[in-house]
Amino acid sequence: MISVHQAREIILKNILPLKKSELIKIESALGRVCALEVRSKENIPPFDNSAMDGFAIKARDSHKALRSNPKIFKVIEDVAAGYTAKKELKSGEAIRIMTGAPLPKGADSVVMVENTELRAKSSELRRIELVKIFEEVRKGENVRYAGEDVKKGETVISKGSILKSGHIGMLASLGFSQVKVFRKPQVAILATGDELVQIKEGLKPGKIRNSNSYSLYSQVLKVGALPILLGIARDNRKDLEAKITQGLSADMLIVSGGVSVGDYDFVKDVLKDLGTDMKFWRVAMKPGKPLAFGMMRRTPVFGLPGNPVSSMVAFEQFARPAVLKLSGARDLFRFRLPAIFTDDFEKKKGLRYFLRVILANKGGQLYASLTGPQGSGILKSMVLANGIAELPEDMEVIRRGETVEVTYLE
Ligand code: AMP
Ligand code: MG
Repeated sequence: MISVHQAREIILKNILPLKKSELIKIESALGRVCALEVRSKENIPPFDNSAMDGFAIKARDSHKALRSNPKIFKVIEDVAAGYTAKKELKSGEAIRIMTGAPLPKGADSVVMVENTELRAKSSELRRIELVKIFEEVRKGENVRYAGEDVKKGETVISKGSILKSGHIGMLASLGFSQVKVFRKPQVAILATGDELVQIKEGLKPGKIRNSNSYSLYSQVLKVGALPILLGIARDNRKDLEAKITQGLSADMLIVSGGVSVGDYDFVKDVLKDLGTDMKFWRVAMKPGKPLAFGMMRRTPVFGLPGNPVSSMVAFEQFARPAVLKLSGARDLFRFRLPAIFTDDFEKKKGLRYFLRVILANKGGQLYASLTGPQGSGILKSMVLANGIAELPEDMEVIRRGETVEVTYLE
């Protein structure tokens, strides 16, 4: 039996990114994997501009200005965002400026409007011409310089980034209405078991509904790939062979159930007979121990345990990073955080445990509480959980108040 760490290494070593890309509109690019390095052809912002509503001046003219010692400037022009000042500013002059408007020629700083007072308010008709300034500003104060966000030639999005809203906005800002992303991997999902019925079929004695296909379907969707449901294969070689063969035309195949040591667990044999190079079939973890992985030429094949929680946990730990790697993504793992465990829990030494927990932030401290019973058939634990706590192999017991590492499941 190999460790979780070793299993993950074997899986990732064998999987190569698909590499095929497509050009799509940025509106559809959320969550997609960027297929190339995006460099800026321009400075952003493209010109020096004001970060505040206020008055553009020469900084040295504000020397020693205070509320008790205002400096008076002549207002020579108004400039709003989207326009440029026509006049060049000279010493002793101010140009009224709005946030985002280009810094007028001759100005080197902006005094925010809160630290000024317009002097001639008497006549509505007469243009206000003087402004009192109550603060000394430094050269460059309240100015956003050209290229201070992004410099011309700079790499802004690296290949393999999963595009978030910030990336989409940045692409627009750089002038791209489309972006090259990697094609989504197709992930075929096959449930196995004579006991399984479809959702709408009636339950007869001994039968249960196929739920794994659907939890896996949504897990595949969530990680940005295209799930394909192959339905249910019965526990006989013929049916398994036919449906597995169908699944091998996808970029990845996930089979649920039938990989344990029961009399009807044929999945591994059928995979082998079909030419899959099986890499391992048991991992030292709980839940999820019977877990097979192999390569059918370039297609990775997972045999996940049938128990509903084991299936989901095993997907999360192994198939998720595998899908991400196929997708060309650079970051394959979720972020891990330390949390205080609020229960006492005993475990078997040698196995890595993945406990379903509810994470809560209480006064700035993260706490992880068990969702309840942790059996591998207790699917409710996955309904309640927003995190997975990992207890390392060598641990035998954890007491409340001790620290545990958790991943937050968004
Ligand atoms: P197996 O790994 O095939 O031995 O299955 C282990 C347990 O998981 C059994 O109790 C199965 O009934 C259950 N199981 C297997 N496949 C599914 C499925 N697709 N949906 C729900 N439960 C399943
Ligand atoms: Mg079975």
